[in-house]
Amino acid sequence: MSDINVLKKELTRIDGKGYGAYKDIRGRYDLGGCELFIDHVQSDPFAPPSKIRLRISQKKAAFPEELFKNSIRKTALEDYLSRAFIREINREKDKNFRIEMDVCGQEVLQRTSMQVHSEQVEARLAVGLPAKGRRIMGRQAADLLCRELPLLAERAMIYASLDAEKIKSHVQTIEDQEYLRSRLREKGLIAFVGNGAMLARASGVSDRPLENENAVSFYSPPEMETKFELPNRGNIRGMGIPAGVTVIVGGGYHGKSTLLKALERGVYNHIPGDGREWVVSDKSAVKIRAEDGRAVTGGDISPFINSLPGGQSTDFFTSSNASGSTSQAANIVEALEAGTGLILVDEDTSATNFMIRDSRMQALVAKENEPITPFIDRIRELYTELEISTVVVMGGSGDYLGEADTVIMLKNYIPSLVTATAREIVEKYPQERKAEIPAPLKSVSPRRIMPESFHLGPKDKVGAKGRQIIRFKKQPLELNFLEQLVHESQTRSIAAILKILPAYLQKNDNFLRDAVEEIVEDIYQNGLEILAGNTGRHPGNMAEVRKQEIMAAINRFRKLKVKQD
Ligand code: ADP
Ligand code: MG
Repeated sequence: MSDINVLKKELTRIDGKGYGAYKDIRGRYDLGGCELFIDHVQSDPFAPPSKIRLRISQKKAAFPEELFKNSIRKTALEDYLSRAFIREINREKDKNFRIEMDVCGQEVLQRTSMQVHSEQVEARLAVGLPAKGRRIMGRQAADLLCRELPLLAERAMIYASLDAEKIKSHVQTIEDQEYLRSRLREKGLIAFVGNGAMLARASGVSDRPLENENAVSFYSPPEMETKFELPNRGNIRGMGIPAGVTVIVGGGYHGKSTLLKALERGVYNHIPGDGREWVVSDKSAVKIRAEDGRAVTGGDISPFINSLPGGQSTDFFTSSNASGSTSQAANIVEALEAGTGLILVDEDTSATNFMIRDSRMQALVAKENEPITPFIDRIRELYTELEISTVVVMGGSGDYLGEADTVIMLKNYIPSLVTATAREIVEKYPQERKAEIPAPLKSVSPRRIMPESFHLGPKDKVGAKGRQIIRFKKQPLELNFLEQLVHESQTRSIAAILKILPAYLQKNDNFLRDAVEEIVEDIYQNGLEILAGNTGRHPGNMAEVRKQEIMAAINRFRKLKVKQD
């Protein structure tokens, strides 16, 4: 390791030279108080920024062991520190530096931008090395690397410079959320919405809480109120949604979709102040929607779709352009394959003909001419045969009332339990439609994927382009409708996972689910760092991602080859 003066001297030497000479400063430096690793130097001023790390020994940083003693606390502390670091970078905005750390949204995810260990704390950053045209600005670079970075580290990576109370409350809140989620099942619940929660968001493009005089906090209907005792916070009360079939009803604009969206995000922990801290759902919950135009490869959608015109098979259904109903059917069977225990459906984003088929339509269009078994005819079986619960938002069809174990009505954003009234209505207005179940629902057989689908030549590239797109070679993989993929850093993780997927498929007899489960387990055991492979570059911008989203991405790959057993 060289000391700070070596770096300063080097920067003076290359001042005014061509940009390429920056390569000479790669290495490890003692900046006095913290260490700087220059891992990757950008090739020119307009290339993606250079990758560096800042490390402070735990002797100096002095975070109490208590704050990172288990994996969830560690994730929470790292999350707090990344946010603190980003705040400090933003405070310096008027300077001409470009310093970046992977940003976090409202969710708290295990991520690679900040690492806390018993020996050290390490921040992974990207910096733009200063240039005038294509010439090195050595003095500015020295100011950035030797003065600015240690200052940031001093302010955001040392326990004594931070607000101890806030850190503690951050870590404890996250730990409580994780605990709460893990206790749902034993109470027979699939989700919980704490009293006082703020579900509404500031706007359609902001994930921050709505904060104005119209914002209505959530309080449980008295009959559904459940109590949990959390390790840090103590008692909490809120609405427990029991396993089974739940239907959310209510007039348009009364907050149905907002509640469902909060449940979708309830698979993740949220930062204090988000409003959804105490909204937690079964961790395997999957939002299902129609997604016409998506590619489907070798999916057994026969539980929902049969005898398509042209005689196309539906137990090994392939399409490069699925319709609304077939895409929604594929989304369900793929979620089952990925091992979901909770399906979330909103009428707003569903195909009508997939959801309902009423008596008049049954009279006009004979069953032989209708390939679709609507969701309403499977929703009960999903629970009785496969133990999969559903929460459906349905303001448009009362047919679902007959299938519901629990009916929640929203009125002016306030929930009430109306199961009993719904039952009376079902008795009073009996169903005229007939159930149309061609064959009993069976579990989905796991599929085998040809590893060659993801073959990469030495020059081929894979990378995320924002949250919604992965480029695999030249091929775009569209993820825009994966509503529970919440951050671009998760998309980057998936892109990296696609690179190692063939090896894991081979180890698992090509079974997709087994391969993905092994990858997720490896990441859990050894960190997201395993996704960097042998590139020698630290991955500073990745975040954890569930097997449900990984498998969903793979299923949408347009060149996917599935073995037909
Ligand atoms: P629905 O699905 O019942 O038609 P939405 O959930 O889309 O209704 O909500 C309609 C509007 O009301 C949205 O703009 C949403 O942000 C807002 N909203 C939802 N819940 C609340 C609440 N608790 N307080 C204030 N506004 C809310
Ligand atoms: Mg809605």
